[in-house]
Amino acid sequence: MCSFSIQSLRLSKEADFRLAVLGDPVDHSLSPSMQNAGLVSLHLPYRYGRLHVRPGDLVEAFDLLRKRDFIGWNLTLPHKLAALDLLDGLDPEAERLRSVNTVVNQSGRLFGFNTDGAGFVAAIKEAFDCDLRALRIAVLGAGGGAGQTVARCLSELNVPLLIMVNRTVAKTERLAKDLAAQSKTKIQTGKWDHLAEVCRQVDLLVNASSVGLDREGIHEGWRTLEPRHLVFDMVYGPRETALVRFAREKGARATDGLLMLLHQGVLAFEIWFGKPAPNAVMRAALWRAAGRSEWLSGSSH
Ligand code: NAP
Repeated sequence: MCSFSIQSLRLSKEADFRLAVLGDPVDHSLSPSMQNAGLVSLHLPYRYGRLHVRPGDLVEAFDLLRKRDFIGWNLTLPHKLAALDLLDGLDPEAERLRSVNTVVNQSGRLFGFNTDGAGFVAAIKEAFDCDLRALRIAVLGAGGGAGQTVARCLSELNVPLLIMVNRTVAKTERLAKDLAAQSKTKIQTGKWDHLAEVCRQVDLLVNASSVGLDREGIHEGWRTLEPRHLVFDMVYGPRETALVRFAREKGARATDGLLMLLHQGVLAFEIWFGKPAPNAVMRAALWRAAGRSEWLSGSSH
């Protein structure tokens, strides 16, 4: 069992856990499989668990984990923003991206990092072997937590064109103003209704929306995908997503979010332990946990 509760932490019953992922929900997280494989492989005597933390319990959770001498923890939905106010220090990348997914506990002082941005860049590089900085890019769901992080990261790279599409347009309009002040990137906002037009203008499409993408749910606009397109779906699950399968049928190169999960996890491990993570071991464990039968170094075809 890789899950434990705030209640058991209060009673200090979780002596062997020293790392965790905090989220609400968190049961679906594959991070324990990946991180525990890395720990075992390097003979590190710690365990990584899942901790279900509701937004109202985040302050107490940080306090308990600090007191229980946790080495660090990851944060997933919906805590990446709220954590910014609970730390003693922030890495510059987390400060720029305004989101924390990795915390380090240094003798009771908590420091926040963000490995999602670098994990995203590494995943794209592995999947498509291309220079992100040369691509015209659309981010779908750019108003959400993950979408904002990716959009900030791309504007920092000064990509030539960034189109941010979101259901709630006010969020991307605010973000566009913020980013335009600091970047050479041409920044536009768009609506889902205009997805077909957006596809025509870009090389890479990143889906950062959590909208259910079963086959029937594929937005009409995706039908304009062409073989020249790259599609990165941040969503992941036991099988490759309907969007990835659809994009490949259209001849595009596509990959899902499992690679990003791997790379952000590898980077977090390296922050906690200050040494190279066993990437291949963590990758194999993650693919196994995701129920992927085939071994893929980059699933982009
Ligand atoms: P979030 O903050 O809740 O954002 C959700 C996004 O989806 C928002 O842009 C939201 O639009 C949009 N959305 C939700 N329902 C929609 C609908 N019916 N129609 C259109 N848009 C809709 O979630 P998040 O943390 O950014 O996560 C988003 C996805 O990325 C999740 O599937 C998550 O698992 C995945 N993710 C993957 C990784 C990885 O390592 N691969 C890392 C982080 C996240 P509004 O702004 O209008 O609400």
